[in-house]
Amino acid sequence: MTSPRVLIVEDEDAIITMMRYNLEAEGFSVMEARDGDAALLSVAETPPDIVILDWMLPLISGIEICRRLRRDPGTRLLPIIMVTARGEETDRLRGLDGGADDYITKPFSPAELVARVRALLRRSRPALAEETLVFEDIVMDLARHKARRKDRTLALSPTEFRLLQHFMERPGRVYSREQLLDMVWGHDVYVEPRTVDVHIRRLRSALNTAGERDPIRTVRAAGYALDSED
Ligand code: CA
Repeated sequence: MTSPRVLIVEDEDAIITMMRYNLEAEGFSVMEARDGDAALLSVAETPPDIVILDWMLPLISGIEICRRLRRDPGTRLLPIIMVTARGEETDRLRGLDGGADDYITKPFSPAELVARVRALLRRSRPALAEETLVFEDIVMDLARHKARRKDRTLALSPTEFRLLQHFMERPGRVYSREQLLDMVWGHDVYVEPRTVDVHIRRLRSALNTAGERDPIRTVRAAGYALDSED
């Protein structure tokens, strides 16, 4: 397992180029389709982790592609971001209920695009029971029980692996030591709350050995959370 796969469905070259460049720079693997038929074919052949779908497309509109993907049990839960242009009445589009998970309006900045993609992937993964968790440059392969940060494999004990998994399933959420004890060690095992601190320290040192930003935030009197910068 490598990077999350993004399918861009768009007919404008300049926009495809911009999206591809920025998503690839952030570690995503990018596929593209220029119309609805190509999009549906691409989804069937190589299922993406997320689709960025332009609303104005030749032949089949983005909203219709979205409806078709939602009707098919195999792609019902596929995360979809619909791209609209200013003036296309986003409110009306939402009302049409094509079933997109999120909307982004042109023109948008590359940073906004990447943030939306990441946010939607985070929200969708638990529901999709994905076997890969991604948070910024950290990737966990649950099936193979491996984790890496950028290209570096993380040396984690089983306990630290489970801790990291819980954080990565709900980024931003603050967990108390007691909650982490319950989730990682189980209800009926007696472990001192301080043990959590020890494992958090080890997890941090495994995550940050190359001098990267520490993604685990200590919340005074509350616990810990996996958090983005700012
Ligand atoms: Ca278009």
